[in-house]
Amino acid sequence: MPSTTSNLRVSQISPLIFQSEIRSMSVECDRVGGINLAQGICDTDLPDSVADQAIEAIRTGQNIYTRLDGIAPLRQAIAAKLLRHNKIAADPDSEILVTSGATGALYAASLALLNPGDEVILFEPFYGYHVSGLLSMRVKPVIVPLAPPDWQLNLDTLRQSITPRTRAIILNTPSNPSGKVFSAAELQAVADLAIEHDLFVITDEIYEYFLFDGARHISIATLPGMAERTITISGLSKTFSITGWRVGYLTASAKWIPSIGYFHDLTYVCSPAPLQYGSVAGLTQLSESFYESLSTEYQQKRDQLCQALTDAGLPPSIPAGAYYILADVSRLPGDTAQKKARNLLAATGVAAVAGTAFFAEGRGENTLRFCFGKKPEALDRACEALRSL
Ligand code: PMP
Repeated sequence: MPSTTSNLRVSQISPLIFQSEIRSMSVECDRVGGINLAQGICDTDLPDSVADQAIEAIRTGQNIYTRLDGIAPLRQAIAAKLLRHNKIAADPDSEILVTSGATGALYAASLALLNPGDEVILFEPFYGYHVSGLLSMRVKPVIVPLAPPDWQLNLDTLRQSITPRTRAIILNTPSNPSGKVFSAAELQAVADLAIEHDLFVITDEIYEYFLFDGARHISIATLPGMAERTITISGLSKTFSITGWRVGYLTASAKWIPSIGYFHDLTYVCSPAPLQYGSVAGLTQLSESFYESLSTEYQQKRDQLCQALTDAGLPPSIPAGAYYILADVSRLPGDTAQKKARNLLAATGVAAVAGTAFFAEGRGENTLRFCFGKKPEALDRACEALRSL
């Protein structure tokens, strides 16, 4: 059949969403045998108890669909953790949903709570999935830039971005890619505006245990008047180094859970059953020192990579949390961030992500993002290679 007469084509929204520069840098990095500091794939080892319990679950027949909101022991373990670490009191039977990672949680929550044409505020630099996820639902992302170098929130800009169509604010603290940890005062200001304008707050707290220099993580759901309007999302990908497992969760008022759960079921059915069991072991058996050591260990990695970037003449913005560094790469050849990333890969074998993936059009061209969620050997090699620049 002659293809010229065909009406087959991708949807109108597809070209707006299709980019994933992060994945394409990973592919390019593999091709040249480089060190991948591009994707947040965190290849550090998972805790033994988590692995053992998942293997045991596979062997003992936990290989079928689970309830759409996840297995009861996992919901109970998450409820206990939320109370202990986040000061969120959530009923495991009606206020917690186990999801296919934080990604599945955000997608299902957005489908359940937002309408096409709604506006949702996000802070820049942003996490690409947040923006693309909204676009895929025909929801309009409204970008509010945070001020470098320490990414302070300008309340006036935030206030001016709110329109009658605004329905939600997406928070990410600690943030990918800037590492910003929202302060108590900033969270209170966001909460006040959300209450004043009757908005949802969807908060992605996946890096909650990666905190440096004494930074404190606060869940906005715990502020007065916020419990009912906040959807708190987190997961185990980063905490237990199991990004490929797809175990995450959200907690919200029982008002919203059935609808969010329905959309999650429609797309993902459930998070992988045996891996839910493995996650229970991690949440119930690991001591407080495990969580504390995450901050200590990653702060050392942060310092190591920041120093190497400084030595390479690529000044870093020092992150307060998460495991990424935004660096000023003005000195690298290339007139776009993508070209600079490719030139850096060619010169040093280190892959990083073009900053443009995290900023609105026209910004981020002199920025690259480096991930330090890496095994010590890989990080050592990357730092050595960067210094050779
Ligand atoms: N949120 C943020 C801010 C992230 O950086 C990532 C990982 N890159 C995710 C969510 C994905 O989490 P999950 O593996 O639980 O889907």
